[in-house]
Amino acid sequence: MTVNPKPGVSGKPPYDDSNIFARILRGEIPCRKVYEDQWCLAFHDINPQAPHHVLVIPKSPYISFADFSAGAPDAEIAGFIRAVGHVANMLGFEESGYRLLANMGPDSHQEVPHFHVHLFAGRPLGPMLV
Ligand code: C5P
Repeated sequence: MTVNPKPGVSGKPPYDDSNIFARILRGEIPCRKVYEDQWCLAFHDINPQAPHHVLVIPKSPYISFADFSAGAPDAEIAGFIRAVGHVANMLGFEESGYRLLANMGPDSHQEVPHFHVHLFAGRPLGPMLV
């Protein structure tokens, strides 16, 4: 399998480094940080849809999950996924439960073109809506 080394370039628009998460990563816009390591930054969503709504974003420039899963080195993929689990653990959601969600592309209504995982918790979340 050939892996596209340039995320976001295979027939799609290139990564736009003026997007809001890129600006947060560069420290140009503040965020309420929850956790940070070499792979990711996690922060509270500015418009929470649950009592706890955290976004976990990779530090590298990926637009979609496909960009990330095909373009990132294995160590980065593992580091990012572990970090998502660590954030859920750290915030105490393992017992009560939580939901992970990631939007990709127009049909999902992805607003910010930098791959991110939403983490929702803090109340019964009901059945998953698609
Ligand atoms: O998955 P989607 O791209 O639609 O989600 C983007 C999320 O980024 C929204 O939930 C929005 O509230 C959040 N956001 C944020 N801080 C900003 C801009 C957007 O937390 N400055």
